[in-house]
Amino acid sequence: MPERSSLTVNGRSYRWMDRPLVVVCVDGCEFDYIHKAVAAGVAPFLGRMLASGAAFEADCVVPSFTNPNNLSIVTGVPPSVHGICGNYFYDREAGAEVMMNDPKYLRVGTILAAFAAAGAKVAVVTAKDKLRALLGKDLAGTCFSAEKADAATLALVGRPPPSVYSADLSEFVFAAGVKLMQARRPDLMYLSTTDYVQHKAAPGSAAANDFYAMMDGYLAQLDALGATLSLTADHGMNDKFGADGRPNAIYLQDLLDEWLGQGAARVILPITDPYVVHHGALGSFATVYLPETADVRATIDRLRGVEGVQLALSNAEACARFELPPDRLGDIVVVSGKNAVLGSSRSRHDLSGLDAPLRSHGGISEQAVPLMFNRRTAGIPGKPRMRNFDILDVALNHLQA
Ligand SMILES: [Zn+2]
Repeated sequence: MPERSSLTVNGRSYRWMDRPLVVVCVDGCEFDYIHKAVAAGVAPFLGRMLASGAAFEADCVVPSFTNPNNLSIVTGVPPSVHGICGNYFYDREAGAEVMMNDPKYLRVGTILAAFAAAGAKVAVVTAKDKLRALLGKDLAGTCFSAEKADAATLALVGRPPPSVYSADLSEFVFAAGVKLMQARRPDLMYLSTTDYVQHKAAPGSAAANDFYAMMDGYLAQLDALGATLSLTADHGMNDKFGADGRPNAIYLQDLLDEWLGQGAARVILPITDPYVVHHGALGSFATVYLPETADVRATIDRLRGVEGVQLALSNAEACARFELPPDRLGDIVVVSGKNAVLGSSRSRHDLSGLDAPLRSHGGISEQAVPLMFNRRTAGIPGKPRMRNFDILDVALNHLQA
């Protein structure tokens, strides 16, 4: 491997890797999943990482959604800098809801692309295709999704194409990571799974332990291949249903229609994506675009009085607190509490695909995520809190030899 000097990307500097570095983003993972799988004896390698590597509790980006966090991890900066704050925003001038999956919405380069440009062999494997183009922006390297694996990828991995709604989709990512490490030994590899299992299964449940046992086996193989392993999550996950087992949802569009008139306000749920079966597009973060005539402060005060609403903030307050891009959010940001979700109109949510009580994410209650390494750390500057997007800084700048 060529020994090179450090790179500076988006204002942070990263040393060249001393051995292959694997960064894993386990979608929807919380420490509780890992601790319970280790306690059940099904994840011995993760147990070793906890005992003889390094582990921190870190905060993810709010909205605690998949894309904002994956992009923060690979750019090292918050959404106020990289621009991706969800799957959707509303373009007032065009009068249209715009999907942010296109790389043109990403405002900075990635650390992955910078290392590739400097001569590192870089590989990216993602479960869902929605992330592939964003993660692979300007990347001269390998980049594919399990969801849309082509014939060459299927041949490399040696597994059949997985279903998008299955634990297999994530297993395909890990299996591909191991095959790539054996065949091409990338200097830097980013693996990003899907939260299909976490949306259905609570920590310590049989399905969850099976998933972490599967993951454990592949991580052990990557470790045995001599890689530095680093692991974090894009967000946690919580139960979002009531005593009757039905989603505990606040339908914001219905409320605002009642308060301000039919269709006067527009609620955007940035969790909405083409894969809504397992969460019904219900998450704990929403943004509201108001008509010019509306009283923003009065509407915020009224929203704060709604049971289950944890926070209602103006655009400026939310962007300052959560480091978000003001031009891609509405006039108000609403965050629901640990066991509540936000919807638009009741009639617009198709919940027929929910075959288990709703678990979801998006709020502050899903902000705590693991940050783990298979090596001990050294010289981490004292910080008020670690972030999941510090992972490449720690992995490249602060691990013991
Ligand atoms: Zn996710």
